[in-house]
Formats: sequence, structure tokens, C-alpha cells
Amino acid sequence: MKRYSAFAIAREAARWHMGWERAWRSPTPKAKYDVIVIGAGGHGLATAYYLGKNHGIRNVAVIEKGWLGGGNTGRNTTIIRSNYLQDPSAAIYEKARSLYETLSQDLNYNVMFSPRGVLMLAQTHHEVRGYLRTAHANKLQGVATEYIGPEKVKELCPIINLDGPRYPVLGALWQPRGGTARHDAVAWGYARACSDMGMDILQQTEVTAIRQAGGKVTGVETTKGAIACDKLAIVVAGHSGVLAEMAGFRLPIESVALQALVSEPIKPCMDVVVMANTVHGYMSQSDKGEMVIGGGADGYNNYTQRGSFHHVEETVRALVETFPMISRLKMLRWWGGIVDMTGDRSPILSKTPLGNCFINCGWGTGGFKAIPGSGWGMAELVARGEPGPLTAEFGLDRFREGRFIDESVAAGVAH
Ligand SMILES: Cc1cc2nc3c(=O)[nH]c(=O)nc-3n(C[C@H](O)[C@H](O)[C@H](O)COP(=O)(O)OP(=O)(O)OC[C@H]3O[C@@H](n4cnc5c(N)ncnc54)[C@H](O)[C@@H]3O)c2cc1C
Repeated sequence: MKRYSAFAIAREAARWHMGWERAWRSPTPKAKYDVIVIGAGGHGLATAYYLGKNHGIRNVAVIEKGWLGGGNTGRNTTIIRSNYLQDPSAAIYEKARSLYETLSQDLNYNVMFSPRGVLMLAQTHHEVRGYLRTAHANKLQGVATEYIGPEKVKELCPIINLDGPRYPVLGALWQPRGGTARHDAVAWGYARACSDMGMDILQQTEVTAIRQAGGKVTGVETTKGAIACDKLAIVVAGHSGVLAEMAGFRLPIESVALQALVSEPIKPCMDVVVMANTVHGYMSQSDKGEMVIGGGADGYNNYTQRGSFHHVEETVRALVETFPMISRLKMLRWWGGIVDMTGDRSPILSKTPLGNCFINCGWGTGGFKAIPGSGWGMAELVARGEPGPLTAEFGLDRFREGRFIDESVAAGVAH
């Protein structure tokens, strides 16, 4: 595959852009692969990419029932941060954040990583204590964050109202190298690199059953026929419970709709990401000028990929308190995705009761930021058959053994 470069843009400009290649192939499925990954979201594609790059396993298919990146990966609000409390979480999220720093160069694809800084507002004394604790933990973990006062918050984000009617801003947890990236580009960049390594990305191909013999996986049945494999990775976010049922085991996961909305584009007014967990809303400004707003998760389990009015009302009400200027904005679009929530709000990267079948799920409302680190760890798990340092604590066993990785504070707002 030809490399993208400034020279390539100039060359194509001179010949009416007729020389660009397709970014990835649309192959016919082979009869058998070494590894099948179900789900061409960011986590599935990153798993395939690091299987090839780090472990030399390239006879891989990524099977997707819709179009690649059309699940939560293409529906999220793209916040990237690693300021989690528990050590295993900080390790995997910081690995991901640090891989994001050079992902565009690594994939030769501009993922538009923008480390503009993330503010998590403290609006109650309880939150102040929680974020001070996280800042101390992050210091020990080597994650660069600091707790800052309200004056610094105002300096970083002049449009903020510090004296909201219900909750004044008392301070914030500040991660200067957190930020955003372009969600589609992350999926497309990984897909292009996987295809370049000879891997097959099979879109419009739904997995309908998982084949097994002697307690081990042997392949999958799909809407395009049966495909055999030696190893299987299930990476389907909100549909994890459905695929686990096909494989014959149950997961401690609930699927709920989570939604977001964007405003009409306006001139640049905010160059940081702000999360306000107490009033429950968060906002950043896209490169096009739209205000990207994250809403809440539904309070009941469902598989609907759409928004609901009461969440929009609650989220906008919360943000108008914090940023009064947005009361005059028109909203352009709003949508939903299906997120996979665990009880401790931490992911599952694990072997399963079915031999040679592995699962990556439970990223809930906050897995976009984890994509590179999750793919790195999952590839290691699939290639070796045993968890490595990044994934050791995230096994399914923790729910049986009571070793929860409680991130309900870090994940207290949908992001
Ligand atoms: C509104 C919203 C806002 C969010 N905001 C943020 C944020 O700001 N920051 C952050 O870090 N995270 C955020 N998230 C969470 C983040 O989007 C997800 O954690 C992450 O994208 C999950 O990626 P994935 O690859 O696991 O899943 P997905 O991208 O959903 O990919 C899974 C794929 O599996 C496919 N699939 C399912 N069943 C089958 C089958 N039977 N056969 C074949 N394919 C199948 C699906 O079609 C889908 O494409 C947000 C999520 C939502 C919905």
C-alpha cells in the first residue's frame, strides 16, 4: 500500500486525485484463519493490528455485521484520558494514551489526536476529596495529572461559570495531555494497516453461531457461510452478552443505550475538554466548531441505538448551568450507541470457559480512549493464550473471587 505523505498529496493534486488506492480490500472469506476477531470497532481492529505487528500473526479475519467503525467507535464523543484511580486501570489507559501520542505516525494515518487537556470539575466537597485522592494515586502511577483551584479552571476555560446556581466549581482534576482524537479515523487507520498486512476485514457479515468441539472453539457461522479458526476473539461491546450466549457462557454485563449530541458550529471558544460529573454533562469543541456534548446512559437495559428526549433535557440543563452561553445554541444532531456495563465499571479482557475463545468487553461509556492499549493487551492474550501485565487483573474470575477494580468514581459520568 502506498504511504500517505505531503508528497503524495501534491502528486495526486496534479492528477485530479485519480491515483489514490482503496484504503482496505473487501475480500471473499477464506475457509479458515488462525484468528477470527468478531467486531470491527476500534478494539477489534486494534487487536488484529497488534496481533500482526507485535506477534507476527497475520492470517486473521475481522468480521463485522455492519460497516467498520459503525458501532460505538463511530458514535462516541472521543474523550481520551488516563486519570483513573486503580493501578490496573491507570496502566492500561495510560498505555493507550501514550500510544495515541504517536498513532498517526505508527499507522501512517492522521487520527487527529489533540492533547488539548481534560478538566474534570469538582463541584461538591465529596468530589474534591475524590479527585485529590486520584491526583495522589496518579502521581504514584506515573500519570501526569494535578488538582487545580477554580482560578486556574477559569483561566483554562474562560466560558465557564464558576458560581453555578446549584453547584459552584470548587476545583478540578487536570490532565494536560488528555484530549480527543477523530473516532472514525482511528477505526479507518487500524483497518487500513490491518488490510495492508494481508488481514481480511469482512464487512456486512454477521456471526450467527459459534462452532465448538471438545470444549474448544472451531469456527463461526456467518451470514456468508461457515469459517473455521484456531482462536476466536469476541470484541463486540454492547452485543457481548449475545455472542457469549452463542459460545455457551454468561457475562456479568448489562447493555444500555448511551447518547450524545452536537450543536451547530460556532467560532472557537473552548480549547479544553470539560467534564462536570455532579451536574452530569461534558463538552468539547470539534475542529469544525460544533460543541460535542455527552449525555447520560439509559436507566434500563436495551439495544436501541438512539437518543431519548429526557436525557437531552437533563444534559443540556446541566451544561447551561456550567456554560450559560450555550443556551443560545441550536442543536444539530443527536444519536445513541449500546454500551456494555460491568458492575465495577472496569473492562473484561479474558479467557472464557470455551477453549481458545477470548473476550474483550465491558468498556462501557469510556472505551474509546482505551483502544490502542486494549488492542495491545488483547493481542498478547490471544497470541500467548495467557494474560500479560496489562490484562492480568481484568479476567472474568474477578467477579467470582471478589477482586473488583472499582472505577465508579473515574467513570462517574458517561464518557
Ligand atoms: C454516545 C457515546 C459516547 C461515548 N463517549 C466516549 C468518550 O468520550 N470517550 C471514551 O473513551 N469512550 C466513549 N464512549 C465509549 C466508546 O465508544 C466504546 O467503549 C468503544 O467505542 C467500544 O469500542 P468497541 O470496538 O469495543 O465496540 P464497537 O465500536 O461498538 O464495535 C463492536 C462491533 O461489533 C459488531 N458486532 C456486534 N455483533 C456482531 C455479530 N454478531 N457479528 C459481527 N459483528 C458484530 C458491531 O456491529 C460493532 O461494529 C462513548 C460511547 C457512546 C455510545
